[in-house]
Amino acid sequence: MSVLDDHMVDKHGRRMRKLRISLLDACNLRCLYCMPEHPVFMPQKDWASAKELMHITRNLVALGIEEVRLTGGEPLMRRDFLEIVDELSTLPVKKLGLTTNALLLAPYLPLLQHTKLQQLNISLDSLNAENFMRITRRDAFKTVMDAIFTAKTLGFAIKINAVIMKGVNDHELTAFVEWSAMNDIPVRFLEVMNIGVMKSQFQERFLSAFDMKTILKEDYQLSRLNDTPDSTSRNFRVSNGAKVGFIASESNPFCAGCSRLRLTPKGYIRPCLFMEEGIDLKALALEDYSEMLPTLMAMKPIRRIPHQPQPMYQIGG
Ligand code: SAM
Ligand code: SF4
Repeated sequence: MSVLDDHMVDKHGRRMRKLRISLLDACNLRCLYCMPEHPVFMPQKDWASAKELMHITRNLVALGIEEVRLTGGEPLMRRDFLEIVDELSTLPVKKLGLTTNALLLAPYLPLLQHTKLQQLNISLDSLNAENFMRITRRDAFKTVMDAIFTAKTLGFAIKINAVIMKGVNDHELTAFVEWSAMNDIPVRFLEVMNIGVMKSQFQERFLSAFDMKTILKEDYQLSRLNDTPDSTSRNFRVSNGAKVGFIASESNPFCAGCSRLRLTPKGYIRPCLFMEEGIDLKALALEDYSEMLPTLMAMKPIRRIPHQPQPMYQIGG
């Protein structure tokens, strides 16, 4: 434990042990709950370099971060993605994960096998090619499904993230549960969040985790599994053998147990997904963190902030 370790605990006793690094805001899909059809992405020159990301992450790991996850935008679109993963693999972290839409994943898999990055959260909002295209606005279903099964065969730990929306894919809940049991891959159902582009259609599309469970309980029994105190999902074993989770970011947010910090593509640290304020860490030396961390910890909210005008792809979901 570091001498600065106490600085990673806020006044509510929440210890920061997870870091989400958003590598860029750009993406090769246009999911209707995340992006406008014609988004404007930040210039590439504004991204923190692999070297800067490594400098920041090394410092945060020395201070107590135990798990690192790469996200975006679509993290696999960064040309230096493998360089970043190779560097991060040298750090003493317990877990290194990736959140991806899997469109570019397949060719990376054999290369990632030799790194610490073994946890893949893959976004898949439909098991039907047409509905997948309606949601993502791209014809990529087969590529994504092939990548999922290759990753499974190669032994990666996979979780599927499915954002469930009324009238869009809520009729697929049962199909996902059957698919999870058949393929032995856990599926997590996410409440759509009232954020960015979703704001105008949130009321129409929102389906609570409670309502999702009610639908599933018509056909299955759900038994609660033991989750870690800072788990974002509430997980269940289903009577058909499937493992499912519910991420109730809107109806039952997990702020009280939150252990996460977020690093933006520009190298700013943010205490919460819902805060636009951040602190630039690119040039900060380890010895200067003792001054910075109390400010950061004091910024971290204890309750869900109702509004986030920035869309998810810009903050890194
Ligand atoms: N492109 C990668 C992907 O889709 O997995 C990583 C970035 S994406 C922003 C991370 C996660 O945020 C995805 O699981 C996505 O479904 C989720 N997400 C984006 N917008 C959301 C919203 N409005 N409500 C709920 N989840 C959202
Ligand atoms: Fe891209 Fe992920 Fe947003 Fe979909 S959810 S548009 S894949 S960043």
